[in-house]
Amino acid sequence: MNVLPSAATRLLVLLGDPVSHSLSPTFQNAAVRAAALDAVYVALRCSAGSLPELLRAIARAGGAGNVTVPHKQLAAATVERRTEAVERTGACNTFWFESGEIWGDNTDVTGIAHALHALPGAPSTGARVLLLGAGGAAHAALDALIGQGAREVVLLNRTAARTELLRDRFAGSSTTTLRAVNCKEDLSGDEFDLVINSTSLGLHADDPLPLSPGSGIRFRAALDLVYRPEETPWVRAVRSGGVPASDGMNMLLYQGAAAFERWWGRPAPIHAMQASLPRSFPDEEISLASHGR
Ligand code: NAP
Repeated sequence: MNVLPSAATRLLVLLGDPVSHSLSPTFQNAAVRAAALDAVYVALRCSAGSLPELLRAIARAGGAGNVTVPHKQLAAATVERRTEAVERTGACNTFWFESGEIWGDNTDVTGIAHALHALPGAPSTGARVLLLGAGGAAHAALDALIGQGAREVVLLNRTAARTELLRDRFAGSSTTTLRAVNCKEDLSGDEFDLVINSTSLGLHADDPLPLSPGSGIRFRAALDLVYRPEETPWVRAVRSGGVPASDGMNMLLYQGAAAFERWWGRPAPIHAMQASLPRSFPDEEISLASHGR
């Protein structure tokens, strides 16, 4: 059912820079339509200087939204109430107004947890994982891995200082062993249950693979957090070697579904959201189990 904008239409936004490539307006507006809600979701490119004021004004006017690169840390500092996921990761990608306060959550963590659940061959508890990258997505991925009881996570990033910051942020918070390494060569001959790519390699067609087939590193499953209209070159390369792999579309869908739940207090119409994405992708089980705040 289509609902035309009215004087009561709720404004949902994506704040970031850039935002023009985002699929969030596509599937969030599909969700709004499927749930027959009076709302519209738009992407607003904004600078760091204008983010706090914009976020607060939209939330206090009854709106809500998402925050993307490069403002997730600033958003975490801007909201008035933080979920535990925001406290742990230092990043906020979802905000809304509730009980007189501006709330912030990091539903990227939920998105990755669901993407791992849907990944064929993904390990459950006790896994040994190689995490490539140390930016915002890596923080969410590490939080999700710790939440799923990974035994050991090895951290590898181009800039070693950021790897150490990531390790230190989560060190001692769980029984998961965290190890920072400086180069892929240190891991040659090593074996992992899972490799996660949280670098931005793969966004552009001419990027090198985040982990080449000749690296000497063996793994049983791979999750690429990068997504493109077609599957990423790394996902295709890994699969051609007979190893199950998925790209970031599932994460995107599930972080958006969890955000929908925060804004509306009801289950997301996940099938309508999935159907609006530019390509269908394998999903063994579409179920949305919300993370607590
Ligand atoms: P970010 O904070 O800017 O971090 C980017 C990461 O990529 C850093 O670890 C950076 O290493 C690394 N990197 C960039 N260029 C590289 C290169 N040429 N060689 C090796 N490493 C390189 O970004 P982010 O928020 O973590 O996002 C990373 C990617 O995750 C995004 O590009 C996006 O595709 C994906 N993502 C997907 C979803 C989803 O819903 N599927 C959500 C969020 C993010 P340095 O530290 O050395 O710069």
